[in-house]
Amino acid sequence: MSTESTTIRWEQDRTGLVTLVIDDPNQSANTMNQAFRDSLAAVTDRLEAEKDSIRGVIITSAKKTFFAGGDLRDLIRVTPETAQELFDGGMAIKRNLRRIETLGKPVVAALNGAALGGGYEIALACHHRVALDAPGSKIGCPEVTLGLLPGGGGVVRTVRMLGIADALLKVLLQGTQYSPRRAQENGLVDDVAETREELLAKARAFIDANPESQQPWDKPGYRIPGGTPANPKFAANLPAFPATLRKQTGGAPYPAPRNILAAAVEGSQVDFETAQVIEARYFVDLAAGQTSKNMIQAFFFDLQAVNSGANRPKGVEPRQVRKVAVLGAGMMGAGIAYSCARAGIDVVLKDVSLESALEGKGYSEKLCAKAVSKGRTTQQKADALLARITPTAEAQDLAGCDAVIEAVFEDTSLKHKVFQEIQNVVAPDALLCSNTSTLPITALAEGVERQSDFIGLHFFSPVDKMPLVEIIKGERTGEEALARAFDLVRQINKTPIVVNDSRGFFTSRVIGHFINEGVAMVGEGIEPASVEQAAAQAGYPAKVLSLMDELTLTLPRKIRGETKRAVEEAGGTWTAHPAEAVIDRMVDEFGRTGRSGGAGFYDYGDDGKRTGLWQGLREHYTKPGYQIPFEDMKERMLFSEALDTVRLLEEGVLTSVADANIGSIFGIGFPGWTGGVLQYINGYDGGAGAGVGLPGFVARARELAERYGDRFTPPALLVDKAEKGERFSDSARG
Ligand code: NAD
Repeated sequence: MSTESTTIRWEQDRTGLVTLVIDDPNQSANTMNQAFRDSLAAVTDRLEAEKDSIRGVIITSAKKTFFAGGDLRDLIRVTPETAQELFDGGMAIKRNLRRIETLGKPVVAALNGAALGGGYEIALACHHRVALDAPGSKIGCPEVTLGLLPGGGGVVRTVRMLGIADALLKVLLQGTQYSPRRAQENGLVDDVAETREELLAKARAFIDANPESQQPWDKPGYRIPGGTPANPKFAANLPAFPATLRKQTGGAPYPAPRNILAAAVEGSQVDFETAQVIEARYFVDLAAGQTSKNMIQAFFFDLQAVNSGANRPKGVEPRQVRKVAVLGAGMMGAGIAYSCARAGIDVVLKDVSLESALEGKGYSEKLCAKAVSKGRTTQQKADALLARITPTAEAQDLAGCDAVIEAVFEDTSLKHKVFQEIQNVVAPDALLCSNTSTLPITALAEGVERQSDFIGLHFFSPVDKMPLVEIIKGERTGEEALARAFDLVRQINKTPIVVNDSRGFFTSRVIGHFINEGVAMVGEGIEPASVEQAAAQAGYPAKVLSLMDELTLTLPRKIRGETKRAVEEAGGTWTAHPAEAVIDRMVDEFGRTGRSGGAGFYDYGDDGKRTGLWQGLREHYTKPGYQIPFEDMKERMLFSEALDTVRLLEEGVLTSVADANIGSIFGIGFPGWTGGVLQYINGYDGGAGAGVGLPGFVARARELAERYGDRFTPPALLVDKAEKGERFSDSARG
């Protein structure tokens, strides 16, 4: 064994077959850290030195996964000053992988588990790839989802292996993570094995049959499959790619897809070595920029902190739910029942009549049929899932349920009534949850005997697709209930954030600011189509006026009425938002209440589909020729949400920065490029010239307050942090 290699073990048999086993002794997964780089250099030297006695090479790993990719702790710290270092380190890895690839001996990747990003790039440098069909094993290049590109030869080689179009669409631009079987179908791996023994046997068989392997691109006369821009026929299709990109990003500031496209196209027109340099430059450009830092922070570190239970009370034994009662089989209840049954929990789905309950179960039947027809599950598994859901109208059928999730109409006295009906039927210590989206949890808890077991569990629609659940702790909710609610959300494979009780909690309250801001702009006289455009370009997945229509214009009026009453009862004064007058006029004067009413900010056809923005908006609101800077329009939406999130931290409704970031992206569509609502402030790029980070954000908020109203005045907590040179982070977790 080479003394310099600490993370790659060299095993050689008598026939001259070398197996390189990647096994970082200091981490649970292999990453491209310094130790790996040094080890790769050492084994490459040895392979070249001992080449004559080597017949072939298998690369595999001793971990559960094959290789996890780049070390994100290193990458998030890259600055423009250290960018050259990153470039040099990256080029060193590429050079060594290239030396192995051109050794003149067959090299096979035996992927014993997930091979994502850098891991898949190692496999790409091999002449043959076999993957073990292990459960949950994933293969692909997800770098784009962290604002990066595969900088270890992934762009250069996928383009040469699959052609530009397939490399971009199947691997690079979406960052799709394939199961081993799907990876094979899409040409990412050559073969799949059922067992570890078969994996290694298949790798050896390739080596036996191909003693002098060479990559296709190193053979004379090689051409990139499907052509390159040098070919006029291919060039004619090229303009379609930027359009695809725009569709993917909505024109929002995601630099990674743009760099990936450039690296692929430019790299396809030059030799392999030059293409490697081009790829490295585009990679370093992304790694040194702010967007990749935002996305790594949110989609890796924050998500990990949230899911691993940084907020779960310590010392409470984990507990699994076996049988859950879902009260109300409407849109939300039906979706919750499906998600619980999918996770293996028995569900009793109760509604006012058996017919309604059966209809609720019908939703699961529809989803299962679809999953079977698409090959995502088997008929047997679908049948087992459906058998776990028992529809009923009888309270006594809930006997033995160890958790209750209520999803009946949004009405406090009705919710009190349904809990009273069942609280003595279910298990005596059952966890009691309400899926209310707006009603304060503390008041709802007053309807049950065991208030400490009562908690809010706010799901998002459609439940089967939306990954987030907002857990709301009422004043009398106990720590045990909080821990159990957390465990239940994890049990159904969703991401839990935890907030304290308050009207609208975190998500409903903050999204209200986004919508109000868009509506207010219409009221000021700005062209409605520009308002929609601004939301899209800021990176919001839904345009603001269309979202208002979906939620219905009567909902904010109802919430406003209740909130105003509560504020006034507490001796405060209500400050009207300029959106209120616009909404009141839409409803009272024009009778337009949103999509469900057939007319809102948009017109709708008989099929309920949008046909276009309502022309009356221009007649009644738009001031011809009136506009404000487009940057202001985008930032008014983003700032309104960010500023209110800081207020929620001040009020103690939110207690964790990671929860705020994750909740905003996964629950209410805050743009992913920002890294979430508080990371947006940390990473504020001073687009409008106000300066960067917290001080820049504060300066810009003051500017917006002067132009558009006091609601943009930065809260004291924000100003204080900016002055102290701090940023938003969960200090306990670093
Ligand atoms: P829905 O109208 O689709 O369903 C409500 C169901 O409750 C109906 O099937 C109704 O028959 C049933 N029901 C009424 N009284 C009942 C009783 N006494 N016992 C049993 N069932 C009874 O409503 P929804 O959209 O599913 O919303 C349900 C709850 O979830 C509400 O509190 C709502 O605020 C909340 N919520 C909704 C959304 C959303 O996007 N729709 C999102 C998060 C939370």
